[in-house]
Amino acid sequence: MIEMDKSNEELIKELQELRHENRVLKALYEKDLQERHLIEADLRQSEARFRHLFQDIENISVQGYCLDGTTQYWNRASEKLYGYSAREAIGQNLVDLIIPLEMKELVKESIQEMALTGQPIPASELSLVRKDGSRVSVFSSHAIVNIPGQGPELFCIDMDLTKLKQAEESDRLKSAFLANMSHEIRTPMNGILGFADLLKSQQLTGDQQQEYIQIIEQSGVRMLNILNDIIDISRIEAGHMKLEIIESNINEQCDYIYTFFKPEVEEKGLKFSLKNSLPTQEAFINTDREKLFAILTNLVKNAIKYTQAGSIEFGYILKDTPTQLKELQFYVKDTGIGIPKDRFEAIFKRFIQSDMDNKMAHQGAGLGLSITKAYVEMLGGQIEVESKEGIGSTFYFTLPYNTNQTNKTIQKDLPPEINENLFKKLKILIVEDDKISKMLIDLTVNKIGREILKAGTGLEAIEACRNNPDIDLILMDMQMPEMNGYEATRQIRQFNSEVIIIAQTANGLNNDREKTIAAGCNDYIPKPINKTELHTLIQKYFNNSCNYYESAIQHSNF
Ligand code: ADP
Repeated sequence: MIEMDKSNEELIKELQELRHENRVLKALYEKDLQERHLIEADLRQSEARFRHLFQDIENISVQGYCLDGTTQYWNRASEKLYGYSAREAIGQNLVDLIIPLEMKELVKESIQEMALTGQPIPASELSLVRKDGSRVSVFSSHAIVNIPGQGPELFCIDMDLTKLKQAEESDRLKSAFLANMSHEIRTPMNGILGFADLLKSQQLTGDQQQEYIQIIEQSGVRMLNILNDIIDISRIEAGHMKLEIIESNINEQCDYIYTFFKPEVEEKGLKFSLKNSLPTQEAFINTDREKLFAILTNLVKNAIKYTQAGSIEFGYILKDTPTQLKELQFYVKDTGIGIPKDRFEAIFKRFIQSDMDNKMAHQGAGLGLSITKAYVEMLGGQIEVESKEGIGSTFYFTLPYNTNQTNKTIQKDLPPEINENLFKKLKILIVEDDKISKMLIDLTVNKIGREILKAGTGLEAIEACRNNPDIDLILMDMQMPEMNGYEATRQIRQFNSEVIIIAQTANGLNNDREKTIAAGCNDYIPKPINKTELHTLIQKYFNNSCNYYESAIQHSNF
Protein backbone atom coordinates (compact mmCIF):
# COMPACT_ATOMS: atom_id res chain seq x y z
CA MET A 1 0.00 0.00 0.00
CA ILE A 2 2.86 2.28 0.65
CA GLU A 3 3.73 2.04 -3.01
CA MET A 4 0.31 3.18 -3.78
CA ASP A 5 1.11 6.33 -1.88
CA LYS A 6 4.12 7.10 -4.00
CA SER A 7 3.67 9.54 -6.68
CA ASN A 8 4.56 8.73 -10.20
CA GLU A 9 7.44 11.10 -9.94
CA GLU A 10 8.87 9.28 -7.01
CA LEU A 11 8.52 5.98 -8.74
CA ILE A 12 10.34 7.34 -11.78
CA LYS A 13 13.12 8.68 -9.57
CA GLU A 14 13.57 5.31 -7.85
CA LEU A 15 13.69 3.62 -11.18
CA GLN A 16 16.33 6.02 -12.38
CA GLU A 17 18.38 5.40 -9.24
CA LEU A 18 18.10 1.68 -9.74
CA ARG A 19 19.26 2.05 -13.32
CA HIS A 20 22.17 4.16 -12.18
CA GLU A 21 23.14 1.59 -9.58
CA ASN A 22 22.89 -1.06 -12.21
CA ARG A 23 25.23 0.90 -14.50
CA VAL A 24 27.70 1.45 -11.67
CA LEU A 25 27.63 -2.23 -10.82
CA LYS A 26 28.13 -3.14 -14.47
CA ALA A 27 31.01 -0.70 -14.75
CA LEU A 28 32.54 -2.11 -11.61
CA TYR A 29 32.11 -5.62 -12.91
CA GLU A 30 33.70 -4.71 -16.23
CA LYS A 31 36.58 -3.01 -14.45
CA ASP A 32 37.06 -6.07 -12.30
CA LEU A 33 36.98 -8.28 -15.38
CA GLN A 34 39.56 -6.08 -17.09
CA GLU A 35 41.81 -6.24 -14.05
CA ARG A 36 41.45 -9.99 -13.90
CA HIS A 37 42.49 -10.18 -17.56
CA LEU A 38 45.48 -8.02 -16.83
CA ILE A 39 46.48 -10.13 -13.84
CA GLU A 40 46.04 -13.30 -15.86
CA ALA A 41 48.16 -11.87 -18.69
CA ASP A 42 50.77 -10.92 -16.11
CA LEU A 43 50.69 -14.41 -14.70
CA ARG A 44 51.03 -15.95 -18.14
CA GLN A 45 53.92 -13.61 -18.90
CA SER A 46 55.61 -14.41 -15.63
CA GLU A 47 55.09 -18.13 -16.18
CA ALA A 48 56.52 -17.88 -19.71
CA ARG A 49 59.45 -15.83 -18.43
CA PHE A 50 60.40 -18.44 -15.82
CA ARG A 51 59.69 -21.32 -18.14
CA HIS A 52 62.06 -19.84 -20.76
CA LEU A 53 64.57 -18.92 -18.11
CA PHE A 54 64.73 -22.47 -16.75
CA GLN A 55 64.55 -24.00 -20.17
CA ASP A 56 67.20 -21.88 -21.88
CA ILE A 57 69.57 -20.71 -19.15
CA GLU A 58 73.12 -21.65 -20.09
CA ASN A 59 75.38 -23.66 -17.82
CA ILE A 60 72.76 -24.17 -15.10
CA SER A 61 71.25 -27.57 -15.40
CA VAL A 62 67.72 -27.79 -13.97
CA GLN A 63 65.93 -31.10 -13.55
CA GLY A 64 62.57 -31.92 -11.99
CA TYR A 65 61.81 -35.35 -10.51
CA CYS A 66 58.80 -36.96 -8.85
CA LEU A 67 59.55 -38.08 -5.35
CA ASP A 68 60.08 -41.62 -6.60
CA GLY A 69 62.93 -40.38 -8.80
CA THR A 70 61.06 -40.33 -12.15
CA THR A 71 62.31 -37.48 -14.34
CA GLN A 72 59.62 -34.88 -15.13
CA TYR A 73 61.63 -31.95 -16.36
CA TRP A 74 65.02 -31.66 -18.11
CA ASN A 75 66.23 -28.29 -19.39
CA ARG A 76 68.58 -27.58 -22.27
CA ALA A 77 71.65 -27.16 -20.06
CA SER A 78 70.95 -30.64 -18.65
CA GLU A 79 70.91 -32.01 -22.20
CA LYS A 80 74.28 -30.38 -22.80
CA LEU A 81 75.80 -31.36 -19.48
CA TYR A 82 74.67 -34.98 -19.27
CA GLY A 83 74.27 -35.83 -22.97
CA TYR A 84 70.62 -37.07 -22.70
CA SER A 85 67.95 -35.20 -24.65
CA ALA A 86 64.84 -34.19 -22.70
CA ARG A 87 62.93 -36.84 -24.63
CA GLU A 88 65.40 -39.54 -23.55
CA ALA A 89 65.53 -38.38 -19.93
CA ILE A 90 61.87 -37.72 -19.11
CA GLY A 91 60.22 -40.82 -17.68
CA GLN A 92 63.53 -42.42 -16.69
CA ASN A 93 64.53 -42.77 -13.07
CA LEU A 94 67.21 -40.36 -11.87
CA VAL A 95 69.14 -43.27 -10.33
CA ASP A 96 69.43 -45.03 -13.69
CA LEU A 97 70.33 -41.86 -15.57
CA ILE A 98 73.21 -39.96 -14.02
CA ILE A 99 74.02 -41.54 -10.69
CA PRO A 100 77.27 -43.56 -10.56
CA LEU A 101 77.15 -47.11 -9.28
CA GLU A 102 78.73 -46.35 -5.92
CA MET A 103 76.09 -43.68 -5.13
CA LYS A 104 72.92 -45.42 -6.32
CA GLU A 105 71.85 -46.78 -2.88
CA LEU A 106 72.59 -43.50 -1.14
CA VAL A 107 70.56 -41.51 -3.66
CA LYS A 108 67.61 -43.91 -3.40
CA GLU A 109 67.63 -43.49 0.40
CA SER A 110 67.89 -39.68 0.09
CA ILE A 111 64.88 -39.57 -2.24
CA GLN A 112 62.83 -41.68 0.22
CA GLU A 113 63.87 -39.43 3.08
CA MET A 114 62.89 -36.29 1.14
CA ALA A 115 59.51 -37.86 0.31
CA LEU A 116 58.91 -38.51 4.03
CA THR A 117 60.14 -35.22 5.48
CA GLY A 118 59.38 -32.87 2.61
CA GLN A 119 62.82 -31.35 3.20
CA PRO A 120 65.51 -31.25 0.51
CA ILE A 121 68.97 -32.69 1.22
CA PRO A 122 71.74 -30.06 1.57
CA ALA A 123 73.60 -28.80 -1.52
CA SER A 124 76.84 -30.66 -2.24
CA GLU A 125 79.57 -31.39 -4.77
CA LEU A 126 78.92 -34.61 -6.69
CA SER A 127 80.63 -36.61 -9.40
CA LEU A 128 77.87 -37.72 -11.79
CA VAL A 129 77.87 -39.82 -14.97
CA ARG A 130 77.18 -38.60 -18.50
CA LYS A 131 75.45 -40.64 -21.20
CA ASP A 132 78.86 -41.55 -22.70
CA GLY A 133 80.03 -42.87 -19.33
CA SER A 134 82.41 -40.02 -18.59
CA ARG A 135 82.29 -38.27 -15.23
CA VAL A 136 81.36 -34.67 -14.53
CA SER A 137 81.79 -32.75 -11.28
CA VAL A 138 78.79 -30.63 -10.36
CA PHE A 139 77.66 -28.52 -7.46
CA SER A 140 74.10 -29.70 -6.91
CA SER A 141 71.38 -27.74 -5.00
CA HIS A 142 67.89 -29.07 -4.34
CA ALA A 143 64.38 -27.76 -3.70
CA ILE A 144 61.03 -29.48 -3.13
CA VAL A 145 58.27 -27.55 -4.86
CA ASN A 146 54.56 -28.28 -4.44
CA ILE A 147 52.92 -28.12 -7.84
CA PRO A 148 49.13 -27.69 -7.44
CA GLY A 149 47.32 -30.77 -8.72
CA GLN A 150 50.56 -32.70 -9.13
CA GLY A 151 52.00 -33.03 -5.65
CA PRO A 152 55.60 -32.33 -4.59
CA GLU A 153 58.40 -32.32 -7.13
CA LEU A 154 62.13 -32.42 -6.45
CA PHE A 155 64.14 -29.83 -8.38
CA CYS A 156 67.91 -30.23 -8.79
CA ILE A 157 70.01 -27.33 -9.98
CA ASP A 158 73.49 -28.46 -11.05
CA MET A 159 76.43 -26.24 -11.93
CA ASP A 160 79.29 -27.72 -13.97
CA LEU A 161 82.56 -27.47 -12.02
CA THR A 162 84.79 -28.83 -14.83
CA LYS A 163 86.33 -25.48 -15.81
CA LEU A 164 86.86 -24.46 -12.21
CA LYS A 165 88.50 -27.81 -11.49
CA GLN A 166 90.69 -27.50 -14.58
CA ALA A 167 91.81 -24.02 -13.52
CA GLU A 168 92.61 -25.33 -10.03
CA GLU A 169 94.44 -28.31 -11.51
CA SER A 170 96.38 -26.10 -13.87
CA ASP A 171 97.36 -23.83 -10.96
CA ARG A 172 98.42 -26.80 -8.91
CA LEU A 173 100.48 -28.23 -11.78
CA LYS A 174 102.10 -24.88 -12.48
CA SER A 175 103.15 -24.57 -8.85
CA ALA A 176 104.47 -28.14 -8.91
CA PHE A 177 106.25 -27.33 -12.17
CA LEU A 178 107.86 -24.21 -10.72
CA ALA A 179 108.99 -26.10 -7.63
CA ASN A 180 110.47 -28.74 -9.93
CA MET A 181 112.16 -26.11 -12.12
CA SER A 182 113.65 -24.53 -9.08
CA HIS A 183 115.08 -27.91 -8.08
CA GLU A 184 116.30 -28.61 -11.61
CA ILE A 185 118.11 -25.28 -11.80
CA ARG A 186 119.53 -25.45 -8.30
CA THR A 187 121.07 -28.88 -8.90
CA PRO A 188 123.42 -27.85 -11.75
CA MET A 189 123.98 -24.51 -9.98
CA ASN A 190 125.19 -26.51 -7.01
CA GLY A 191 127.67 -28.29 -9.29
CA ILE A 192 128.91 -25.05 -10.83
CA LEU A 193 129.36 -23.07 -7.61
CA GLY A 194 130.60 -26.04 -5.59
CA PHE A 195 133.29 -27.12 -8.03
CA ALA A 196 134.30 -23.53 -8.84
CA ASP A 197 134.93 -23.15 -5.10
CA LEU A 198 136.95 -26.37 -5.00
CA LEU A 199 139.02 -25.14 -7.95
CA LYS A 200 140.40 -22.34 -5.76
CA SER A 201 142.30 -24.89 -3.69
CA GLN A 202 146.06 -24.79 -4.24
CA GLN A 203 146.68 -28.51 -3.81
CA LEU A 204 144.86 -29.75 -6.87
CA THR A 205 146.61 -31.84 -9.48
CA GLY A 206 146.26 -30.88 -13.14
CA ASP A 207 143.93 -33.86 -13.69
CA GLN A 208 141.69 -32.87 -10.80
CA GLN A 209 141.45 -29.34 -12.15
CA GLN A 210 140.44 -30.66 -15.56
CA GLU A 211 137.87 -32.94 -13.96
CA TYR A 212 136.31 -30.08 -11.96
CA ILE A 213 136.24 -27.84 -15.01
CA GLN A 214 134.49 -30.59 -16.94
CA ILE A 215 131.86 -30.90 -14.20
CA ILE A 216 131.29 -27.15 -14.24
CA GLU A 217 130.92 -27.27 -18.01
CA GLN A 218 128.47 -30.22 -17.88
CA SER A 219 126.40 -28.51 -15.19
CA GLY A 220 126.26 -25.34 -17.29
CA VAL A 221 125.09 -27.28 -20.34
CA ARG A 222 122.46 -29.04 -18.26
CA MET A 223 121.15 -25.74 -16.94
CA LEU A 224 121.07 -24.24 -20.41
CA ASN A 225 119.10 -27.25 -21.65
CA ILE A 226 116.51 -26.71 -18.94
CA LEU A 227 116.19 -23.02 -19.78
CA ASN A 228 115.86 -23.85 -23.47
CA ASP A 229 113.14 -26.36 -22.65
CA ILE A 230 111.24 -23.77 -20.66
CA ILE A 231 111.53 -21.26 -23.49
CA ASP A 232 110.40 -23.85 -26.04
CA ILE A 233 107.40 -24.79 -23.94
CA SER A 234 106.42 -21.12 -23.58
CA ARG A 235 106.80 -20.61 -27.32
CA ILE A 236 104.70 -23.68 -28.10
CA GLU A 237 102.03 -22.63 -25.58
CA ALA A 238 101.92 -19.11 -26.98
CA GLY A 239 101.76 -20.44 -30.55
CA HIS A 240 105.02 -18.66 -31.43
CA MET A 241 106.95 -21.72 -32.50
CA LYS A 242 107.51 -21.41 -36.24
CA LEU A 243 108.44 -24.03 -38.77
CA GLU A 244 111.18 -23.65 -41.34
CA ILE A 245 110.39 -26.26 -43.95
CA ILE A 246 113.31 -27.12 -46.19
CA GLU A 247 114.40 -30.16 -48.07
CA SER A 248 116.39 -32.43 -45.77
CA ASN A 249 118.06 -35.75 -46.07
CA ILE A 250 116.97 -37.98 -43.23
CA ASN A 251 119.76 -40.50 -43.70
CA GLU A 252 122.29 -37.76 -43.15
CA GLN A 253 120.53 -36.61 -40.03
CA CYS A 254 120.32 -40.15 -38.65
CA ASP A 255 123.98 -40.80 -39.52
CA TYR A 256 124.98 -37.61 -37.77
CA ILE A 257 123.05 -38.52 -34.62
CA TYR A 258 124.48 -42.04 -34.71
CA THR A 259 128.05 -40.75 -34.96
CA PHE A 260 127.44 -38.13 -32.32
CA PHE A 261 126.01 -40.47 -29.67
CA LYS A 262 128.07 -43.59 -30.46
CA PRO A 263 130.90 -42.83 -28.00
CA GLU A 264 128.43 -42.08 -25.16
CA VAL A 265 126.42 -45.27 -25.81
CA GLU A 266 129.51 -47.43 -26.06
CA GLU A 267 130.98 -45.91 -22.95
CA LYS A 268 127.88 -47.20 -21.13
CA GLY A 269 128.60 -50.67 -22.54
CA LEU A 270 125.49 -50.68 -24.77
CA LYS A 271 125.14 -51.80 -28.36
CA PHE A 272 124.10 -49.02 -30.74
CA SER A 273 122.66 -49.51 -34.20
CA LEU A 274 120.95 -47.51 -36.90
CA LYS A 275 118.70 -48.80 -39.68
CA ASN A 276 118.04 -46.39 -42.52
CA SER A 277 115.62 -48.15 -44.82
CA LEU A 278 115.84 -45.87 -47.85
CA PRO A 279 118.86 -45.33 -50.09
CA THR A 280 120.31 -41.92 -49.32
CA GLN A 281 119.30 -40.61 -52.78
CA GLU A 282 115.66 -41.22 -51.89
CA ALA A 283 115.82 -40.09 -48.29
CA PHE A 284 114.84 -36.50 -48.94
CA ILE A 285 111.77 -35.00 -47.31
CA ASN A 286 110.48 -31.48 -46.86
CA THR A 287 110.48 -30.83 -43.18
CA ASP A 288 111.85 -28.61 -40.45
CA ARG A 289 115.32 -29.99 -40.09
CA GLU A 290 116.09 -28.63 -36.67
CA LYS A 291 112.83 -29.88 -35.23
CA LEU A 292 113.37 -33.37 -36.65
CA PHE A 293 116.84 -33.26 -35.25
CA ALA A 294 115.55 -32.26 -31.84
CA ILE A 295 112.93 -35.04 -31.88
CA LEU A 296 115.43 -37.79 -32.70
CA THR A 297 118.08 -36.39 -30.40
CA ASN A 298 115.67 -36.28 -27.48
CA LEU A 299 114.42 -39.83 -28.00
CA VAL A 300 117.96 -41.21 -28.34
CA LYS A 301 119.11 -39.26 -25.29
CA ASN A 302 116.23 -40.65 -23.24
CA ALA A 303 116.99 -44.16 -24.46
CA ILE A 304 120.58 -43.74 -23.26
CA LYS A 305 119.48 -42.18 -19.99
CA TYR A 306 117.03 -44.95 -19.11
CA THR A 307 119.03 -47.99 -20.31
CA GLN A 308 121.70 -49.61 -18.18
CA ALA A 309 122.36 -52.77 -20.22
CA GLY A 310 121.58 -54.17 -23.64
CA SER A 311 121.08 -52.14 -26.77
CA ILE A 312 119.64 -49.08 -28.42
CA GLU A 313 118.47 -49.15 -31.99
CA PHE A 314 116.94 -46.42 -34.05
CA GLY A 315 115.95 -45.82 -37.63
CA TYR A 316 112.89 -45.58 -39.84
CA ILE A 317 110.77 -47.50 -42.32
CA LEU A 318 108.63 -46.32 -45.20
CA LYS A 319 104.99 -47.20 -44.62
CA ASP A 320 101.98 -47.26 -46.91
CA THR A 321 98.93 -45.48 -45.53
CA PRO A 322 95.24 -45.89 -46.43
CA THR A 323 95.54 -42.58 -48.30
CA GLN A 324 97.77 -41.86 -51.29
CA LEU A 325 100.45 -40.38 -49.06
CA LYS A 326 103.21 -42.60 -47.79
CA GLU A 327 104.71 -41.93 -44.40
CA LEU A 328 107.95 -42.54 -42.63
CA GLN A 329 107.81 -44.31 -39.33
CA PHE A 330 110.78 -43.53 -37.15
CA TYR A 331 111.55 -45.57 -34.07
CA VAL A 332 113.94 -45.50 -31.14
CA LYS A 333 114.09 -48.80 -29.30
CA ASP A 334 115.86 -49.55 -26.06
CA THR A 335 116.23 -52.38 -23.55
CA GLY A 336 115.97 -50.06 -20.58
CA ILE A 337 113.82 -49.76 -17.47
CA GLY A 338 110.55 -49.44 -19.42
CA ILE A 339 107.48 -47.38 -18.61
CA PRO A 340 104.37 -48.51 -16.70
CA LYS A 341 101.33 -48.69 -18.98
CA ASP A 342 99.36 -46.17 -16.96
CA ARG A 343 102.03 -43.55 -17.65
CA PHE A 344 102.06 -43.92 -21.45
CA GLU A 345 99.91 -40.82 -21.85
CA ALA A 346 101.25 -38.79 -18.95
CA ILE A 347 104.88 -38.83 -20.11
CA PHE A 348 103.92 -36.76 -23.16
CA LYS A 349 102.04 -34.15 -21.15
CA ARG A 350 103.63 -30.85 -20.31
CA PHE A 351 103.92 -30.10 -16.61
CA ILE A 352 102.49 -33.50 -15.70
CA GLN A 353 105.46 -35.71 -15.12
CA SER A 354 107.34 -33.08 -13.22
CA ASP A 355 104.59 -33.57 -10.64
CA MET A 356 105.04 -37.30 -10.33
CA ASP A 357 106.22 -38.63 -7.03
CA ASN A 358 107.69 -41.82 -8.40
CA LYS A 359 109.66 -40.01 -11.07
CA MET A 360 112.43 -42.26 -12.22
CA ALA A 361 114.29 -39.48 -13.96
CA HIS A 362 117.00 -38.01 -11.83
CA GLN A 363 117.98 -35.48 -14.42
CA GLY A 364 115.79 -33.45 -16.70
CA ALA A 365 112.69 -31.52 -15.97
CA GLY A 366 110.18 -33.81 -17.64
CA LEU A 367 109.60 -31.42 -20.51
CA GLY A 368 111.52 -33.21 -23.26
CA LEU A 369 108.75 -35.53 -24.42
CA SER A 370 106.06 -32.86 -24.36
CA ILE A 371 108.23 -30.68 -26.61
CA THR A 372 108.98 -33.71 -28.78
CA LYS A 373 105.28 -34.49 -29.13
CA ALA A 374 104.47 -30.87 -30.01
CA TYR A 375 107.22 -30.89 -32.68
CA VAL A 376 106.05 -34.21 -34.18
CA GLU A 377 102.51 -32.89 -34.43
CA MET A 378 103.68 -29.59 -35.93
CA LEU A 379 105.45 -31.61 -38.62
CA GLY A 380 102.25 -33.52 -39.40
CA GLY A 381 102.99 -36.74 -37.54
CA GLN A 382 102.05 -38.66 -34.44
CA ILE A 383 104.06 -40.12 -31.61
CA GLU A 384 103.39 -43.12 -29.39
CA VAL A 385 105.21 -45.49 -27.12
CA GLU A 386 105.23 -49.23 -26.59
CA SER A 387 106.94 -50.37 -23.45
CA LYS A 388 107.21 -53.11 -20.85
CA GLU A 389 108.66 -52.49 -17.43
CA GLY A 390 112.03 -54.13 -17.07
CA ILE A 391 112.14 -55.09 -20.77
CA GLY A 392 112.43 -51.81 -22.65
CA SER A 393 110.63 -49.13 -24.63
CA THR A 394 110.11 -48.26 -28.26
CA PHE A 395 109.07 -44.76 -29.22
CA TYR A 396 107.46 -44.47 -32.67
CA PHE A 397 106.72 -41.32 -34.58
CA THR A 398 105.53 -40.70 -38.10
CA LEU A 399 106.28 -37.99 -40.65
CA PRO A 400 104.70 -37.54 -44.07
CA TYR A 401 106.98 -38.80 -46.85
CA ASN A 402 106.41 -35.65 -48.82
CA THR A 403 109.11 -35.73 -51.43
CA ASN A 404 108.83 -35.55 -55.16
CA GLN A 405 112.46 -35.52 -56.15
CA THR A 406 114.74 -38.49 -56.32
CA ASN A 407 118.41 -39.00 -57.01
CA LYS A 408 119.74 -35.91 -55.33
CA THR A 409 123.37 -35.14 -54.96
CA ILE A 410 124.34 -35.51 -51.37
CA GLN A 411 126.19 -32.71 -49.70
CA LYS A 412 127.71 -33.46 -46.35
CA ASP A 413 127.41 -30.83 -43.65
CA LEU A 414 130.99 -30.49 -42.70
CA PRO A 415 132.39 -27.92 -40.35
CA PRO A 416 134.38 -25.36 -42.33
CA GLU A 417 137.99 -25.03 -41.55
CA ILE A 418 138.33 -22.06 -39.27
CA ASN A 419 141.06 -19.93 -40.73
CA GLU A 420 142.29 -17.85 -37.83
CA ASN A 421 144.74 -15.90 -39.98
CA LEU A 422 141.84 -14.58 -41.96
CA PHE A 423 140.47 -12.80 -38.91
CA LYS A 424 143.75 -11.14 -38.06
CA LYS A 425 142.72 -8.35 -40.40
CA LEU A 426 139.59 -7.48 -38.46
CA LYS A 427 139.03 -4.49 -36.24
CA ILE A 428 136.35 -5.53 -33.77
CA LEU A 429 134.16 -3.50 -31.42
CA ILE A 430 132.71 -5.39 -28.46
CA VAL A 431 129.63 -3.67 -27.05
CA GLU A 432 128.70 -5.21 -23.73
CA ASP A 433 127.77 -3.83 -20.32
CA ASP A 434 128.24 -7.01 -18.29
CA LYS A 435 131.80 -7.38 -17.06
CA ILE A 436 132.00 -11.16 -17.23
CA SER A 437 130.38 -11.37 -20.66
CA LYS A 438 132.76 -8.67 -21.91
CA MET A 439 135.75 -10.60 -20.62
CA LEU A 440 134.50 -13.82 -22.20
CA ILE A 441 133.97 -12.30 -25.67
CA ASP A 442 137.29 -10.56 -25.45
CA LEU A 443 139.02 -13.88 -24.73
CA THR A 444 137.01 -15.56 -27.49
CA VAL A 445 137.94 -13.07 -30.21
CA ASN A 446 141.17 -11.39 -29.14
CA LYS A 447 143.34 -13.94 -30.96
CA ILE A 448 141.55 -13.43 -34.22
CA GLY A 449 141.35 -9.66 -34.53
CA ARG A 450 143.81 -6.97 -35.46
CA GLU A 451 142.42 -4.54 -32.90
CA ILE A 452 139.72 -4.92 -30.23
CA LEU A 453 137.72 -1.91 -29.01
CA LYS A 454 135.21 -1.97 -26.19
CA ALA A 455 132.06 -0.04 -25.31
CA GLY A 456 129.74 -0.45 -22.32
CA THR A 457 126.60 1.33 -23.54
CA GLY A 458 124.81 2.08 -26.79
CA LEU A 459 125.96 5.69 -26.69
CA GLU A 460 129.61 4.68 -26.27
CA ALA A 461 129.20 2.26 -29.19
CA ILE A 462 127.93 5.02 -31.49
CA GLU A 463 130.78 7.28 -30.47
CA ALA A 464 133.39 4.52 -31.01
CA CYS A 465 131.91 3.92 -34.47
CA ARG A 466 132.05 7.60 -35.42
CA ASN A 467 135.68 7.84 -34.27
CA ASN A 468 136.69 4.58 -35.99
CA PRO A 469 135.08 4.35 -39.41
CA ASP A 470 137.38 1.38 -40.20
CA ILE A 471 135.73 -0.98 -37.71
CA ASP A 472 134.95 -4.26 -39.53
CA LEU A 473 132.77 -6.01 -37.02
CA ILE A 474 130.59 -5.06 -34.05
CA LEU A 475 129.49 -7.67 -31.53
CA MET A 476 126.50 -5.88 -30.06
CA ASP A 477 124.78 -6.80 -26.80
CA MET A 478 121.11 -5.90 -27.12
CA GLN A 479 120.19 -5.28 -23.50
CA MET A 480 122.16 -2.42 -22.02
CA PRO A 481 121.41 0.53 -19.77
CA GLU A 482 121.05 4.10 -21.16
CA MET A 483 120.67 3.01 -24.75
CA ASN A 484 120.02 -0.58 -25.79
CA GLY A 485 121.62 -2.40 -28.71
CA TYR A 486 118.57 -2.04 -30.99
CA GLU A 487 118.61 1.76 -30.78
CA ALA A 488 122.42 1.94 -31.04
CA THR A 489 122.32 -0.26 -34.18
CA ARG A 490 119.60 1.91 -35.76
CA GLN A 491 121.69 5.04 -35.14
CA ILE A 492 124.95 3.48 -36.38
CA ARG A 493 123.17 2.40 -39.58
CA GLN A 494 122.35 6.06 -40.30
CA PHE A 495 126.02 6.82 -40.96
CA ASN A 496 127.58 3.38 -41.53
CA SER A 497 125.80 0.77 -43.62
CA GLU A 498 128.92 -1.31 -44.27
CA VAL A 499 130.03 -2.51 -40.85
CA ILE A 500 128.94 -6.05 -39.97
CA ILE A 501 126.90 -6.04 -36.77
CA ILE A 502 126.26 -9.33 -34.99
CA ALA A 503 123.73 -9.10 -32.19
CA GLN A 504 124.18 -11.14 -29.04
CA THR A 505 121.05 -11.66 -26.99
CA ALA A 506 120.39 -13.49 -23.78
CA ASN A 507 116.64 -13.76 -23.40
CA GLY A 508 116.06 -16.34 -26.12
CA LEU A 509 112.41 -15.30 -26.38
CA ASN A 510 110.18 -13.27 -28.68
CA ASN A 511 111.65 -13.68 -32.15
CA ASP A 512 115.10 -12.32 -31.31
CA ARG A 513 116.40 -12.90 -34.80
CA GLU A 514 113.64 -10.92 -36.55
CA LYS A 515 113.91 -8.07 -34.05
CA THR A 516 117.67 -7.72 -34.38
CA ILE A 517 117.61 -7.93 -38.19
CA ALA A 518 114.84 -5.31 -38.26
CA ALA A 519 117.04 -3.01 -36.17
CA GLY A 520 119.84 -3.29 -38.78
CA CYS A 521 122.00 -6.15 -37.51
CA ASN A 522 123.40 -8.58 -40.06
CA ASP A 523 123.07 -11.61 -37.84
CA TYR A 524 122.43 -12.86 -34.38
CA ILE A 525 124.01 -15.22 -31.89
CA PRO A 526 122.31 -16.37 -28.70
CA LYS A 527 124.12 -16.30 -25.38
CA PRO A 528 125.87 -18.24 -23.96
CA ILE A 529 128.19 -17.72 -26.89
CA ASN A 530 129.73 -20.83 -28.32
CA LYS A 531 133.23 -20.21 -29.65
CA THR A 532 132.92 -22.37 -32.78
CA GLU A 533 129.54 -20.92 -33.58
CA LEU A 534 130.82 -17.36 -33.28
CA HIS A 535 133.90 -18.06 -35.39
CA THR A 536 131.74 -19.75 -38.01
CA LEU A 537 129.39 -16.80 -38.09
CA ILE A 538 132.26 -14.34 -38.47
CA GLN A 539 133.75 -16.48 -41.20
CA LYS A 540 130.41 -16.38 -43.01
CA TYR A 541 130.75 -12.62 -43.40
CA PHE A 542 134.47 -12.37 -43.99
CA ASN A 543 135.04 -15.40 -46.19
CA ASN A 544 132.35 -15.89 -48.80
CA SER A 545 133.71 -19.16 -50.05
CA CYS A 546 133.10 -21.06 -46.84
CA ASN A 547 130.18 -23.34 -46.04
CA TYR A 548 127.93 -22.15 -43.29
CA TYR A 549 128.07 -24.90 -40.78
CA GLU A 550 125.08 -25.29 -38.57
CA SER A 551 126.24 -26.98 -35.45
CA ALA A 552 122.91 -28.61 -35.09
CA ILE A 553 123.58 -30.52 -31.91
CA GLN A 554 124.65 -27.33 -30.22
CA HIS A 555 121.58 -25.53 -31.55
CA SER A 556 119.33 -28.33 -30.49
CA ASN A 557 117.72 -27.79 -27.16
CA PHE A 558 118.10 -31.33 -25.99
P1 ADP B 1 112.89 -36.21 -18.52
O1 ADP B 1 113.65 -34.95 -18.59
O2 ADP B 1 112.29 -36.46 -17.16
O3 ADP B 1 113.61 -37.38 -19.08
P2 ADP B 1 111.02 -36.49 -20.71
O4 ADP B 1 109.82 -35.64 -21.02
O5 ADP B 1 112.02 -36.66 -21.77
O6 ADP B 1 111.63 -35.88 -19.39
O7 ADP B 1 110.48 -37.90 -20.27
C1 ADP B 1 109.42 -37.99 -19.36
C2 ADP B 1 109.47 -39.26 -18.56
O8 ADP B 1 109.24 -40.38 -19.42
C3 ADP B 1 110.80 -39.53 -17.92
O9 ADP B 1 110.90 -38.88 -16.67
C4 ADP B 1 110.81 -41.05 -17.79
O10 ADP B 1 110.09 -41.42 -16.63
C5 ADP B 1 109.99 -41.50 -18.99
N1 ADP B 1 110.83 -41.94 -20.15
C6 ADP B 1 111.11 -41.24 -21.27
N2 ADP B 1 111.86 -41.96 -22.14
C7 ADP B 1 112.05 -43.16 -21.54
C8 ADP B 1 112.74 -44.36 -21.93
N3 ADP B 1 113.37 -44.48 -23.10
N4 ADP B 1 112.69 -45.40 -21.06
C9 ADP B 1 112.06 -45.31 -19.88
N5 ADP B 1 111.39 -44.22 -19.45
C10 ADP B 1 111.38 -43.15 -20.27
